[in-house]
Amino acid sequence: MVRFRKVSKRYGSLVVLDSLDLDVAEGEMVTIIGPSGSGKTTVLRMLMTLETINDGVIYVDGKPLTHMPGQGGLVPANSRHLRQMRSKIGMCFQHFNLFPHMTALENCMEGPVHVLGLSRKEARERSEELLEMVGMGDKRDQHPSRLSGGQQQRVAIARAMAMRPKVMLFDEVTSALDPEVIGEVTNVIRKLVAEHHLTMLMVTHQMGFAKDISDRVCFFFGGRIEEQGTPEELFGNPQRERTQQFLSAVK
Ligand code: ATP
Repeated sequence: MVRFRKVSKRYGSLVVLDSLDLDVAEGEMVTIIGPSGSGKTTVLRMLMTLETINDGVIYVDGKPLTHMPGQGGLVPANSRHLRQMRSKIGMCFQHFNLFPHMTALENCMEGPVHVLGLSRKEARERSEELLEMVGMGDKRDQHPSRLSGGQQQRVAIARAMAMRPKVMLFDEVTSALDPEVIGEVTNVIRKLVAEHHLTMLMVTHQMGFAKDISDRVCFFFGGRIEEQGTPEELFGNPQRERTQQFLSAVK
């Protein structure tokens, strides 16, 4: 579903991604861990087309993300191709980024009405169903300031899902939450995968979350994958010295 092929990203002389190959299969949950500055968030930002690529190609759902098939060049930022590709990807952030002046329901309806062109009735039905699914049905008329962190994050997940993406990106979604509500967000994410067969790519500093939720964990170092495996393999029996050092430092 997502393929990075020899993708490089540089800022001046700083190499952030170094000829990266990364695959996420349909329905797979992959987590990226690694030291600060190793390029984890850059991978998500590239998928959101918020960053340009210096070299290589990213494929989503079989199509190049920012390159026209058969042509070398980048597609224009406002092109139909790019809009279509962007609509396949949803993202949730550490700080929820809900619209503060809108209720939970209005937050979820905004994209389907204004970007997808759904009628308000269709958008409302879709959003109500999703808010139910994340356990926020009874809070749909509340504004974000009246909701806890875990509740806001669940609304943010419902809002991203309302766009019916094929791939969901999660950037540190549990980092701003109290430990006791991390489980409720983790459960919602699991449910999404089970019921919607979504593909997920997550970045986290919380090893417990990575262990709990992933099919595969990738340890990044210097803009490349140093080591990858199931959570049992990577956390239980890391092979590379850098992985061992990192994991013993974050324990
Ligand atoms: P963290 O765990 O601290 O969030 P990360 O692994 O997610 O780190 P990235 O955010 O991907 O790291 O950043 C990788 C490197 O790229 C960092 O050294 C960062 O300073 C640098 N970087 C990111 N964005 C820019 C930018 N716009 N201009 C220059 N350098 C940047």
